[in-house]
Amino acid sequence: MKGKIGLEEHFAIEDTIMDSHGFLPEEIWPELKSRLLDVQEKRLGFMDKFDMEMMILSLNAPAIQAIPDTSKADEIARRSNDALAEEVAKRPDRFQGLAALPMQDPELAAAELKRCVNDLGFIGALVNGFSQKDDADSCLYYDLDQYWPFWQVVEELDVPFYLHPRNPLESQSRIYEGHPWLLGPTWAFAQETAVHALRLMCSGLFDKHPKLQIILGHMGEGIPYSLWRIDNRNSWTKAPPKYPAKRLIAEYFQENFYLTTSGNFHTRTLIDAMMEIGADRILFSSDYPFEGVEEAAVWFDAAGISEDDRMKIGRTNSLKLFKLDGA
Ligand code: MN
Repeated sequence: MKGKIGLEEHFAIEDTIMDSHGFLPEEIWPELKSRLLDVQEKRLGFMDKFDMEMMILSLNAPAIQAIPDTSKADEIARRSNDALAEEVAKRPDRFQGLAALPMQDPELAAAELKRCVNDLGFIGALVNGFSQKDDADSCLYYDLDQYWPFWQVVEELDVPFYLHPRNPLESQSRIYEGHPWLLGPTWAFAQETAVHALRLMCSGLFDKHPKLQIILGHMGEGIPYSLWRIDNRNSWTKAPPKYPAKRLIAEYFQENFYLTTSGNFHTRTLIDAMMEIGADRILFSSDYPFEGVEEAAVWFDAAGISEDDRMKIGRTNSLKLFKLDGA
């Protein structure tokens, strides 16, 4: 279809480029590196060829979240956001921006999000999972109390927050020992991100801030397939262990979450996601350059769904969610 919009589409700056090294075979690295550092050339060529009108760009991973020094995290976040704003300004019809945020400090993160939305014209944030702060072996998850004022700012700014994966720290990865092929996009990304999203839902965050909208990639990081079972076990809501949130997980999922197709180009999985969350809350994305625009587009354009749903998922849901012109 023409006019597709993707919103899990990454770039890198020199300070963060090496964070993407090692996820794909070494012989691919020079090409991956050049694709991450490029915005206006090869990338636009793929977009033109496969009818992708717009990429809503975000920094690579884990980047800011893996910088334990808070002031350094803030500095690199500002630098990458400024660099992204410059690229978007060259072709605002083809590129928009999601903010990288120094979540090590919720106040700094809120201030940077405000700057990105109000001054740079960004339309949301993308954060790469938990943050390390001070101690490289620390993991801060955003359901923690200190983040609730940050979430209030996100809700007031009325912009979506993309919770993007990262690998668990080595100290938290014992289950993967001897099985490095299960790390990254194979399995560990989804497991890490799904638990983080469930923590947000169980915490009661969406009772306090019901307008928050969280985006998950990779067709929901496995959550759609498990929703019924999670809530079925949640006689939790009546007996211990009882979570603080007031409602069923499925209700938060259906009202406070969007999913993207990034890196998960499989029609049966898409249809399951549509059955669980609805076609109005699924958004086309490729996960370029870790995946190809070609693979995403060729699959999506021919996937066995209605043309009405294809237009929503491929384009109009994003126009509405991000309040882009033409919605
Ligand atoms: Mn990604």
